[in-house]
Amino acid sequence: MSEAFTGGCQCGAVRFRAEKLGRPSICHCRMCQKQFGSFFAPLVSADQAHLTWTRGQPTLYRSSPKVKRGFCNKCGTPLTFQSDGGVELAIGAFDHPERIEPEIQVYHDKRLPYVDRLFDKPSLSTEVQQERWASIESWQHPDHDTDRWPPEDEA
Ligand SMILES: [Zn+2]
Ligand SMILES: [Zn+2]
Repeated sequence: MSEAFTGGCQCGAVRFRAEKLGRPSICHCRMCQKQFGSFFAPLVSADQAHLTWTRGQPTLYRSSPKVKRGFCNKCGTPLTFQSDGGVELAIGAFDHPERIEPEIQVYHDKRLPYVDRLFDKPSLSTEVQQERWASIESWQHPDHDTDRWPPEDEA
């Protein structure tokens, strides 16, 4: 994949632009579960020569001698997995994650016992969800680059 992909954290303090992505994956290892606070980590490798931090920088936590994990220190969004092998970006942090479909699973043997059944669960009624969604006032950074965030109050 070699077009421009942008993204960033939930609060907008950290933004990136990646122009060369590798293979998207999900990792089931225990350390990725912890970093993301989730069932697995969706990550895509990015060519570092074509990766620009356009606003702020991730804060790094060294989770083992060879690995650093990046996140926004204002809102906590997980952003990177960094090792000697390069940098990987959290797929959910992209402005258009729907364009980055995982192609492979890593540490599949370590997956949570119920993970294969997750999408068999019933879902909440669409009506209830639409009402809830309509009532949300979002302060989340929008899914595109901005000159300034949050916007200055013009009043
Ligand atoms: Zn943030
Ligand atoms: Zn992992």
